Amino acid sequence: MTPPFDPRDHHPEATVAHFVAQGIDPGAVRRFLAAWFPRASDANLLDPRAPREPDDPFLPGGWASRRRFPRRLLEGLDQLPRLKLESIQVSPRDRFEKLLFRTNDGLPVETVLIPLHKENAVSLCVSSQSGCPMACAFCATARLSRRRNLAAWEIVDQILQARARVELQGRRVTGCVFMGMGEPFLNYDRVMTAAEILRSPIGLAVNAKAITISTVGLVAEIDRFTREQRPYRLSISLGAADDATRAQLVPVAARTPLRELIAAARRHQHQRGGRINLSYVCIANLNTSETDARNLGRLLEGLPVRFNLIDVTDPTGRFHPPSPAQWNTFRDALRRHLPGQPIVRRYSGGADIQAACGTLAGTSSPPQPLDSD
Ligand code: SF4
Repeated sequence: MTPPFDPRDHHPEATVAHFVAQGIDPGAVRRFLAAWFPRASDANLLDPRAPREPDDPFLPGGWASRRRFPRRLLEGLDQLPRLKLESIQVSPRDRFEKLLFRTNDGLPVETVLIPLHKENAVSLCVSSQSGCPMACAFCATARLSRRRNLAAWEIVDQILQARARVELQGRRVTGCVFMGMGEPFLNYDRVMTAAEILRSPIGLAVNAKAITISTVGLVAEIDRFTREQRPYRLSISLGAADDATRAQLVPVAARTPLRELIAAARRHQHQRGGRINLSYVCIANLNTSETDARNLGRLLEGLPVRFNLIDVTDPTGRFHPPSPAQWNTFRDALRRHLPGQPIVRRYSGGADIQAACGTLAGTSSPPQPLDSD
């Protein structure tokens, strides 16, 4: 039997074309998608006490049919798979939240809810793979033994269920970073489909500038992203200031030399203008010396960047963040070697619930009941 058509697996315009080819009016498909995507993340779906009918958009005979959409659009919605939400953890320290999902083949997928300074606004940190083959030395995701790319629907379903949680709390999702488990550019097409659903006015209508795709540095895909003129922000994680140290920290990405990575960043900046977002995981006694700052200055000369510093979080204890004194010394050195470039310290929250950068490993101890807050 052919699986039902899943709007979460296709660019919204491809969904419109699919149904138009079956003789359905394009305006009706657009109205349906513009109503269904926000409805598919309705808070009722996460509340175990809420009745599923008549409001569940994944069930026939409920909300969607009352809105008198053509029947063909509703066929098979009740058979669409969902990620199973296994646990929700809330950090008592900074209110970051981590949702742990399980795929239908038993793999963990994690999504982090990042509270923003703006009142009631939340950004989502979404996974593009379960596990990750990039083997970054400081990253718990890399140590998961089973791994695969997520389907577009599995990426979108994280967003829908996380959005449901956020709305249940009276907050709203204003942005999204593809920076959870996995290297997004290893799953390029599906990540772009999910991003299109996020930003499309007939999807979830999130501002494209509030959607960030983060990469540890895949040059061919950065060039593709540039060539295709994708409207999202690009964030490149450098790892280190020289190729030898980078090979220790981000070994797979480091197969391409830093100068080639920065050349791709220059091409992107040349096409897009503005500043390139670079992130740099700071590790004591490894990549935060005066020499590292000088190498970065040489490497990035003439390239407008926003240089984001993130303290390493490594529950194994192998890597440590710089002490406050080391951090200040490195920041001052960067200011000298990257004159006029913004140097920003980024907070990587949720460390106490293993939700910080590099700590996502499908863990949920101790799990919280789904209906607690
Ligand atoms: S840091 Fe990112 S790219 Fe590197 S192993 Fe972890 S998830 Fe993959």
